[in-house]
Amino acid sequence: MTIKVRFAPSPTGYLHVGNARTAIITWLFARKSGGHLLLRIDDTDIERSKAEYETAIEDSLIWMGLQWDEKANQKNRLERYAEQIEKLKNDGKLYPCFETAEELSLKRKSLLSRGQPPIYDRSALELTDRKKEDYIAEGLKPHWRFKLDHEPIKWNDLIRGETKFHGKDQSDPVVIREDGSPLYHLCSVIDDIDFNITHVIRGEDHVSNTATHVQMFEALGAKPPKFAHMSLISDNEGGKLSKRLGSLSIKDLRDDDGLEPMAITSLLARIGTSDPIDAFKEIEPLIESFDFSKFSRSTPKFDPNELLRLNSKIIHKTEFEDINVRLAQMGLQDLDEEFWLAVRSNLERLKDIKEWWKVAKSPIEPVIEDPAFIAEAAALLPDTPWNENTWNEWTSAIKNKTGRKGKQLFMPLRQAITGMSHGPELAGLLLLIGSEKVKKRLSGTKY
Ligand code: GLU
Repeated sequence: MTIKVRFAPSPTGYLHVGNARTAIITWLFARKSGGHLLLRIDDTDIERSKAEYETAIEDSLIWMGLQWDEKANQKNRLERYAEQIEKLKNDGKLYPCFETAEELSLKRKSLLSRGQPPIYDRSALELTDRKKEDYIAEGLKPHWRFKLDHEPIKWNDLIRGETKFHGKDQSDPVVIREDGSPLYHLCSVIDDIDFNITHVIRGEDHVSNTATHVQMFEALGAKPPKFAHMSLISDNEGGKLSKRLGSLSIKDLRDDDGLEPMAITSLLARIGTSDPIDAFKEIEPLIESFDFSKFSRSTPKFDPNELLRLNSKIIHKTEFEDINVRLAQMGLQDLDEEFWLAVRSNLERLKDIKEWWKVAKSPIEPVIEDPAFIAEAAALLPDTPWNENTWNEWTSAIKNKTGRKGKQLFMPLRQAITGMSHGPELAGLLLLIGSEKVKKRLSGTKY
């Protein structure tokens, strides 16, 4: 059997961390199993779906290295849906309903106030043909529901294990809107059948949908695929991620936060699994270790600081040849390997390098709190040309002369030379800044 999976975003917003996780997991499973990945754009909601979001979602996927093998848009498949809908109507699987949204909401509230689950009461099934004709003559347009069989529904979920529902505990799902357009449930099932999807991987928020989908597969004469429902990630306080950390789209993590795609992938591939979260530069080990049996059913917490920690670790082990093109794109085409190696271990994000480039190459205001000490130090600067031992020779000489050591010795030098109180190792930085600038700065000149 060839494994085939799909990632099915709705283009009604940017790719969010939660959905990106589904994309990564689906992709990893496809690659691990030698399978095929369909990118399915769920764009039947023409009002909320936007081409711009579709493009942005694809950009985010590509940026994260998650290529798909095939793509389909639901909006191009309406004829096919109509065909299958006709078949289901003829088989008596769909029934027309005329309640308004307000009526339905009242019914729901009244059930809830009596402590009962808000399950649709199927009163539309009681309508006589005459009554339905009258409604239509009055200009009412029906929406259609899928008639669930009131029997047990179960499947062996790849993450949740045996999962059981009962048809009578579910509302018959609305599958066609008043305007005749088909809704997500049916389109999704028809697509999963037509595209030969073998495994449906998605968030736990879809579990009860799956219960109804199982019957739709059967009504359409197909065997349901296998299902894997991941528990949803929450923020650190356990709140729903999307509400509290609203800005967490992949686009923002890239454009605003300047994160590396592999930092995001490293976290999202492993969060909620029994494998340790670590910074991966390449995706291969993540494919290698992937297994649904490692997924936990509890809610994993997403910590943005963890992303930053992984990001730093990835940057710290990135080789110059893997980053020089991006540095050039950032306007740092003159930045060479020596500079990269001297500062990379001080970067949390790649964009931080601009600051160090500025410290080394542009005029900065030296910070000198103890001019007498700095003057003494300046007088002890070794002769040029400088080399990798210069820093040690210089600071040993200052130490001998002044008796200062540790922070008392290094901090004033750092502040005078870089204008900052933190930063990369001065031994390397001294050479990158160069003797001319160092001397001027030690004299208190902005240079
Ligand atoms: N468009 C749906 C969503 O984003 C797809 C769910 C599914 O995987 O079937 O929630």
